[in-house]
Amino acid sequence: MKQLRFAGQGKLEYDDVPDLEPKSGEVVIKTAVSVLCGSEMGAYRGNGMKAGNGGHEAAGIVLKLGENVTNLKVGDRVGVSPVAPCNDPACSYCSKGQFTWCKHWKFYGNFHSEQFLASARACQVLPDDVDWTTGVLITGDGFGVPYHSSTKFINKKPSTIAVFGAGPIGLGNVILQAYYGRRVIVSDISEARLELARKFGAFATINPKEKDAVETIKELTDGVGADITIECAGRPETVHQCFAAVRTGGQVIFNGEQPEIPISISGAFIRRDITATGSWFYHFCEYSDMLRLCREGLQAKSLVTHRLPFAEAATGYELFAAGKTGKVLLEY
Ligand SMILES: [Zn+2]
Ligand SMILES: [Zn+2]
Repeated sequence: MKQLRFAGQGKLEYDDVPDLEPKSGEVVIKTAVSVLCGSEMGAYRGNGMKAGNGGHEAAGIVLKLGENVTNLKVGDRVGVSPVAPCNDPACSYCSKGQFTWCKHWKFYGNFHSEQFLASARACQVLPDDVDWTTGVLITGDGFGVPYHSSTKFINKKPSTIAVFGAGPIGLGNVILQAYYGRRVIVSDISEARLELARKFGAFATINPKEKDAVETIKELTDGVGADITIECAGRPETVHQCFAAVRTGGQVIFNGEQPEIPISISGAFIRRDITATGSWFYHFCEYSDMLRLCREGLQAKSLVTHRLPFAEAATGYELFAAGKTGKVLLEY
């Protein structure tokens, strides 16, 4: 079977590798779709990988069952969490579907391949009314991150939310929060992504190359600031903007990863009663809530803006790396 390999410096190769065999508790899945994630870009642009790729968002059809798999059968359509539970049946986090909180979770990758391995316990069987695009987004971090972040809001009825960074995670936050009827203000330096944000229901967009993001958010909120700000750019300047643009007593949520940066504990947090919240990945148990929202009308799948055959992955990566797309989906 063919497997994509990050060959370094933005190059991709297709390797012929042997068909996969599942170990106990695992399944082999015949890939139907996989989607690109910003977290792959470091290896893609940098030194590449010795074997395989950074793909970790995919859905497909169960091809082979390992021993001790009882929750799936061959032919099932499944979406997959790449973060799999530990092997301890008594683990309080994994038994509740909170795999990322367990110290012993296991990561499965190489999903940009004609087949991939997954833990059977990290698979969700997709109902017939769930298409592949929706399925891959709500069983993976594609839509999982925005949803997981939304569960952390202290103010359950915020009126204004400011999103800093309109990559796929930021845009997912826009789709979800606009669906909930909130005024979403989006700041990004890419006009193409601001245009997507407006298409997905943003109330206002700001290009900080043209006007000051914090001042504009203050103007749009009668000088008060946004109820919640979400950092999705993973940049020091947008961290500071999140604290400056949030209302006193408001909440800053972090989605974007980055190295250490200096921050004023007194100025940013204490003196303004700000809550700062980290939100990483999503919980496997949140799938059913996302499924319900999609059935009620949430257009999660609009987050996918480009679709390409697996054989044209290079074009997909170029578009994605140029910062002009939402999610890019590969079809097998
Ligand atoms: Zn991802
Ligand atoms: Zn566990």
